[in-house]
This record gives sequence, C-alpha cells and structure tokens, in this order.
Amino acid sequence: MQNKTFNIAIDGPAGAGKSTIARMVAEKLGFVYVDTGAMYRAIALYLLRTGVNPEDPDAVSEAVRDAQITIRYQDGVQRVLLNGEDVSGLIRTEQVGNTASAVSVYPPVRAHLLDLQRRLAASADVLMDGRDIGTCILPDADTKIFLTASPHVRALRRYKELAEKGAACNLDKIEQDIMERDERDRNREIAPLREAPDAVVLDSSEMTIAQVVQAILDAAVAHGLPKERIREGGVE
Ligand code: C5P
Repeated sequence: MQNKTFNIAIDGPAGAGKSTIARMVAEKLGFVYVDTGAMYRAIALYLLRTGVNPEDPDAVSEAVRDAQITIRYQDGVQRVLLNGEDVSGLIRTEQVGNTASAVSVYPPVRAHLLDLQRRLAASADVLMDGRDIGTCILPDADTKIFLTASPHVRALRRYKELAEKGAACNLDKIEQDIMERDERDRNREIAPLREAPDAVVLDSSEMTIAQVVQAILDAAVAHGLPKERIREGGVE
C-alpha cells in the first residue's frame, strides 16, 4: 500500500507572497511546490489566444475543454504546459492574471483543474498554493495556512516585482486591481477565497519572509510533520 502523502495547503489573496514563501518552504522540506494559479493562468492564456470572450460563461465552458493543462518539473521547478507547449514564461502578465481571475468563477473551469490538483497531491508530499486548496481541493490537508497582507502592502510588493522586470506599472492601478480581484475571488459562488476553519491565519504585512517561512514550518510540525524533515540552512 502507498504511504499517505503529507500535504500543506496555502491559500490567500493575490500578492500576499504565497508563491515566494511556498517555494522556500517546499525547498526546506524537499516537498513538491504546486502553483495552482499557474494552471488558471494557462487557461486564461488559451482563451486570450483563441479570442473567447471571458465574460461569456457558455463560450468559456465550451472552450476550456480544449485546453489541456499538464504540469512538469524541471530541476524541481514547476513548468505548466498548455496543449503540450510550455507557457510558464507567458502567463506572468497582469492581463493574463486578470483574465484568470475573471474566468475562475465558472464551475467548469474549476472542475477542469480539480483532478489534476488532487492527483498531484496524492502522488507526492506537496505544498500547494491557491485560493480554495484548504477548503475545496484538499479538505484533509495535513496543514492549512491562510496567508494574507493589507491591500497596500500587497500592491507595493507587486509594484516592486514588476518594476524589477522593467515593466511599466502604476501603483494606484495595481492596488485597484488587487482590490477588485479580492472582491471577485471572495464573493464568487463557487470555491470563494475563504479561510478554512482549521487554517492557521498569517498576516504577513509586518513579518519578514523568514518569519513567515518559520511560522509555516512550525505549523507543519505541530500537525505531525517530523522535525527531521526540515533541512538545514537559512532562508535568503
Ligand atoms: O495566484 P495567481 O495570481 O497566479 O492566480 C491567478 C488567478 O487565478 C487568481 O486571481 C484567482 O482568481 C485564480 N485562482 C483560483 N483558484 C486557485 C488559484 C488561482 O481561482 N486555486
């Protein structure tokens, strides 16, 4: 019989630092990091490319069936494939993120990714980040974290990230987009962004990255992860 895998779910709003933190914790534990936002983004890219109107639920539901999403790991880094094409580098734009947020409200889009996410969690010790991992995808996850930060702090972080890449950006517009996205993610009927009742809630507004990583490691140990699984070495 296969041993049960250890799963850590990290949910939270856009820009809370989930992916940076999740990547670090996964490295400290030797877990696989699963970024579910990338899967929604790949679907969004497909819709943008095919010219499907994101506001037309029937057209989106129909089109999504032709968007085959798969995940590969290359040197421990997740790559997302859209109908066999590695689109990991193409999905990191604000336009794709906003479209992903708009279409992730449709049940067929969520259903399209559910199996893939559950299969990944069943096949390895994973740290999976998203919006509904602790509440819907992995309700039995060993450790659930809800990571948040104030909208202003989140906008500032995203602004810096984009500025570093040399992308033109406007802080007010980013904050506005973040609040709109939060609103939509929190109020959608299916799988809304919400803390699971048994989640550890971390507000990272005034925490360093190292403190957040440590808090998650502590939560995992408190939920049964053997301390010896934590690798030596500090967080940069
Ligand atoms: O996290 P990221 O910004 O890459 O996600 C893009 C969008 O995909 C989010 O705004 C959210 O609406 C959606 N998403 C979701 N459920 C997840 C992950 C992402 O609805 N598990």
